Amino acid sequence: MTAPTRKDLDALQQIVGDKGLLEPGEDLVSYENCVRYGAGKAAFVVRPASSAETSKVMAYCMGQGIVLVPQSGNTGLVGASTPDGTGQQGVLSFDRLTGTATSDGTTSNVSGANDKIIFDEENRSVTVGAGVRLSDLNAFLAPKGYVFPIDLGADPRIGGMIATNTGGARFLRYGDVRQNTLGVKVVLADEAGTELDFMSGLRKDNTGIDWKHLFIGTTGTLGVVTEAVLNVQRLPQQSAAALLVPRDEAAVLKLLLEMEQRCDSQLTAFEGMSAEAMAAAFDHVPSLRNPFPGGDLPDYVLLVELSRTWAMREGEQTLDELLEIVLAEIWEDEEAPLENAFIGRPEEMWALRHALSEGVKHAGKLVAFDVSFRRGDLMKFRAFMAEELPKRFPDVRICDFGHVGDGGLHFNLAIAKDDPRLNDETFIPDLRDWVVKIVVEKYHGSFSAEHAIGRSNQSFYYEYTPEKVKELAAGMKALISPNDIGVVKLG
Ligand SMILES: Cc1cc2nc3c(=O)[nH]c(=O)nc-3n(C[C@H](O)[C@H](O)[C@H](O)COP(=O)(O)OP(=O)(O)OC[C@H]3O[C@@H](n4cnc5c(N)ncnc54)[C@H](O)[C@@H]3O)c2cc1C
Repeated sequence: MTAPTRKDLDALQQIVGDKGLLEPGEDLVSYENCVRYGAGKAAFVVRPASSAETSKVMAYCMGQGIVLVPQSGNTGLVGASTPDGTGQQGVLSFDRLTGTATSDGTTSNVSGANDKIIFDEENRSVTVGAGVRLSDLNAFLAPKGYVFPIDLGADPRIGGMIATNTGGARFLRYGDVRQNTLGVKVVLADEAGTELDFMSGLRKDNTGIDWKHLFIGTTGTLGVVTEAVLNVQRLPQQSAAALLVPRDEAAVLKLLLEMEQRCDSQLTAFEGMSAEAMAAAFDHVPSLRNPFPGGDLPDYVLLVELSRTWAMREGEQTLDELLEIVLAEIWEDEEAPLENAFIGRPEEMWALRHALSEGVKHAGKLVAFDVSFRRGDLMKFRAFMAEELPKRFPDVRICDFGHVGDGGLHFNLAIAKDDPRLNDETFIPDLRDWVVKIVVEKYHGSFSAEHAIGRSNQSFYYEYTPEKVKELAAGMKALISPNDIGVVKLG
């Protein structure tokens, strides 16, 4: 890694102009720190406004041995989107790259983020720059009756979503970003800043390697994403939601299967929330309404959502009615897996669900895991942890929640901030190693379900990835994007 000089900063400014370069001394804080971690120090922040500019920036920096850390919305949770503390890495921010190149090679850089998104209704797709915010894309699509269906409690940008293959709360129905990406334009980390266009937007194309997939979920190590073609979905016109209290842990999977059998593709979410996580959200956001009688939080609650993409037809059963009927049918089962159910306003329930992530941040010192299991193992893992964790690590509270419908679990552990064990620098690493070992070795799950690899789980990548796979990844990296970029190593 080479420390950038004044000459380098001037060269970058020549490429991206005054607005495109921020130097130390200017306000770089929001680029150096992320929502969950901080203390990075940037040598500069370079903000290209087009794919062509990105290519020139990459060519220059790779040629000079300057390491760039790609950054989009900076909402990632694994310590991968900010520079280290050396002050030698530059941030390659996509926050100005909200336009796309038109066929004559210029950028459709018209005013207002929404004017830059190209909508193709016949193909049911959009073409966007990597810097477009998810909320801006959906604000643009909503009046047209469409949505990019990746739903989460943060507001990332498209480039970061592709680089991490974001999942979210409606994965069960719509899949992840990979399943909704039809094309990407990328710039490789090589001395030419090679730009490659896989933007056909075709839904079917089996003419060799499907290259776009190499850049999805690989956090920029194989090249940065500058533009994308995304599949969009019809915006739901009707929805109903309920909070279900399962009879016990085994009942959760039974409920999921029953709901799927009865509602099929109308079931759009099946999310789990622990009492500890809900309590943290209610503490943190006092305006949230507690829907449980007397405010007593059940141990575990499922948020289920049904939705339809068409407007109510005359004589059609409403989704609230359907939900009531389905729950009544489930209740009639002799071994009913349901203890209680509350049907209410979907917005209120989603407000609670989306407040969990921020809420648990305030529950103490947070040690967070984003893990996944085959669906049948998720609740078994929770039960195992509820029993074993207190024996090995007493007074560590489990504040988990997750995407039960797809086997994803945000397994959060909270430790009192004045716990003296926090002064022991081996305590948290030992705790993390033990939890991940159980996930991977006992339950054959993943140590990174939907946040990709970052500083916080790089060591687990090294430990749990087979040697041959690491060797192949290193070979692929050397071939495609030989220069250092970002913080993640896949070799
Ligand atoms: C409250 C909250 C809730 C969340 N909920 C979920 C959830 O339900 N599901 C989920 O999957 N995630 C969730 N996340 C995590 C995060 O929002 C996602 O990982 C998000 O998609 C990251 O996108 P970003 O634009 O913020 O990327 P960044 O954080 O900027 O970057 C993430 C990674 O991608 C790389 N990168 C960024 N831009 C590019 C690019 N253009 N080309 C190549 N590489 C690039 C970065 O170097 C880094 O490695 C949540 C985060 C928060 C704070």
